[in-house]
Amino acid sequence: MRIAIISDIHSNMQAMEMALQVIDQCRVDQVFCLGDIVGYGANPNECVELVRSRCTQIVRGNHDLAAVDLSHAKHLPPHGQIAAKWTFAQLSDENRRFLAWLPFRRVIDDCTLVHANPGNVLSWAYVNSLEIAVCQFPHFTTPLCLIGHTHVPSVCGENLHGSTLVKGMKFLINVGSVGQPRDGNPQLSFGLLDTNEWTYENIRTEYDVDGAAEAIVAAGLPRSLALRLSQGT
Ligand code: ZN
Repeated sequence: MRIAIISDIHSNMQAMEMALQVIDQCRVDQVFCLGDIVGYGANPNECVELVRSRCTQIVRGNHDLAAVDLSHAKHLPPHGQIAAKWTFAQLSDENRRFLAWLPFRRVIDDCTLVHANPGNVLSWAYVNSLEIAVCQFPHFTTPLCLIGHTHVPSVCGENLHGSTLVKGMKFLINVGSVGQPRDGNPQLSFGLLDTNEWTYENIRTEYDVDGAAEAIVAAGLPRSLALRLSQGT
């Protein structure tokens, strides 16, 4: 089975549409989504509807939580709070209900899916160092745990062995962000897993960054949220 794994779309319709175009060329069997469908960008409803129509397994991110329950927005950075309030007002009732029902953790065959970390799903703690990564392995029983949240793609093997998948060894895979990459590379990021070949690849592709940035400004959202897209920060 070939599975595309997307995460952290953040209401960036331009990036999401391009990701799905590339995913179609990859002839995948399924698309998994690791959450943060909304927040920061200008097209929350469009992105929720694309995820609803294309993704077979979906977990909820902290921005998806804040966009339907603003009491959780206080945990976001200042511009994230502004975007959460804006998103809350924009979402259709149907899309809000959809986000509100999403689970925080899913286990499907070889994969555990969570947004931030498997150790304490609702802590939203970042896995952004090897020390933190190594502590996550006791918290999932499948060969693979798929995460997002940091917006920085990475592959970490159990006991910090390399980044090429090996049968019989557990791996923690961060698929990066479709809609707001933060590793200095503005190209959208997603993961491509082949469970027959037991291979994983991080895919990076250019998309209409200017279009997404212009939409953010036109929506009246903070300009820094538009600027960071071209910087990959
Ligand atoms: Zn995110």
